[in-house]
Amino acid sequence: MTSDGAEILLLFLPLLYQLFAMTDMTDTNNCPCHSGRPYAECCEQLLSGAHPASTAEALMRSRYTAYVVRDIAYLLRSWHSSTRPDTIDPAAIPEWRGLHIVRIEKGMESDCRGVVEFIATSFSRENVWRLHEVSRFVQEEGQWFYIDGDIRDDPFPGE
Ligand SMILES: [Zn+2]
Repeated sequence: MTSDGAEILLLFLPLLYQLFAMTDMTDTNNCPCHSGRPYAECCEQLLSGAHPASTAEALMRSRYTAYVVRDIAYLLRSWHSSTRPDTIDPAAIPEWRGLHIVRIEKGMESDCRGVVEFIATSFSRENVWRLHEVSRFVQEEGQWFYIDGDIRDDPFPGE
């Protein structure tokens, strides 16, 4: 993106912010993980404990949703005990507005490990930024857990 493009984007940020805020209020059906499926049929099933995540991607998506709805208990529960923090400060969680899955490696029902690379987008009235992370997951006794992730500095490789 040229600096001009960035300036134009920043100019429209307050408008975008309002549009998204309105979408959040009116569109309660769509799952926050951007799967295009209703929340009740998607991540809510995992956050409520009705179903375990069947794949690493499903767990990653449900954790993104848990960040959006600030379900700290689920974030801790889905975090492997070897790397889990004692607590997560809800005030430190940004307002996530977008999720794009870049790459998935293994992480299917028959695997015990999986990698999910994703870009999550957050913006406020003043700023827009992206988290580009390669996350590692492990499956133990039918349960997927988040282990840790590497942050990528360049959110758009090849650009
Ligand atoms: Zn979902």
